[in-house]
Amino acid sequence: MTDRGFVHPLDLAGKVAIVTGGNRGIGLGMAKGLAAAGCSVAIWARDRARNDQAVAECSKGPGRAEGFVCDVTDVHSIENALENTAASFGAIDGLFANAGIGGGGRVPFLEQSDEAWARMLEVNLLGTKRTIAAVLRRMVEQAHAGRPGGRIVATSSVAVNKGTAFNQHYAATKSAIVSLTRSIAVEFARYGIAANAILPGYTATEMIDDLAANERFMKAIEPRLPLRRLGSSDDFAGIAIYLMSDSSAYHTGDAITIDGGFLVA
Ligand code: NDP
Repeated sequence: MTDRGFVHPLDLAGKVAIVTGGNRGIGLGMAKGLAAAGCSVAIWARDRARNDQAVAECSKGPGRAEGFVCDVTDVHSIENALENTAASFGAIDGLFANAGIGGGGRVPFLEQSDEAWARMLEVNLLGTKRTIAAVLRRMVEQAHAGRPGGRIVATSSVAVNKGTAFNQHYAATKSAIVSLTRSIAVEFARYGIAANAILPGYTATEMIDDLAANERFMKAIEPRLPLRRLGSSDDFAGIAIYLMSDSSAYHTGDAITIDGGFLVA
């Protein structure tokens, strides 16, 4: 029998996590961290070739990794990915609902169309809600079958706490994600499920390629970042491991900022 007292508190061996948008950027940083800590990881995103690349990177760790094509705007695609994930891995212990699109940050508020808002809400908010609901349903079934517990982690943004000109639709979805996870934390605590949001600051991924290549933006932003650099995908490995681990069992309903000190400067 294993004495949990002598198991590393961040050991994820035997756990299974889904990472949406896990084939690149912040999601891949989290997936690699989870796999390195022994977690089995299901990468969910639309691009099959990129899913395969991500699986290859995650497979360097002790955890098992597999890719599943999933579009979070399509409930059938989510159900299908979940069925296939469960068939391959068994019980699901955690979901990192991270898939999202950026706002572009170019169109003034008064010129933003309802269509642009609808697309943003569809992917970032409804996509997150649908994914979380599908996985929670499964976790509740697992709890009724004698296997309580689970982790829901959703990727929000510092845009929740910092006004972002030209990006109101994006900021609105990210604020809603914080409210969504807090409310889930309360309703699903009875099943031993914890729910938290992560608020990344500016992170060098494809989503902000344009900004990172913009010299004027970089000159303006660097002095406002106490750590004097953009975040990297790997900066999200540690928080993913912690939130997936038994060590965070009592940590729920939180919104955790990882931004190089941007918000406090
Ligand atoms: P990337 O553009 O690098 O990655 C986005 C990921 O989401 C990809 O894996 C993409 O895969 C997936 N995705 C997009 N649309 C869908 C969809 N409809 N269904 C399934 N998967 C989808 O961005 P980041 O890594 O930067 O972003 C990850 C999260 O972090 C997002 O929620 C973003 O809002 C948030 N964030 C990012 C910040 C930054 O500065 N980079 C700052 C704050 C928050 P595929 O195209 O193959 O489907």
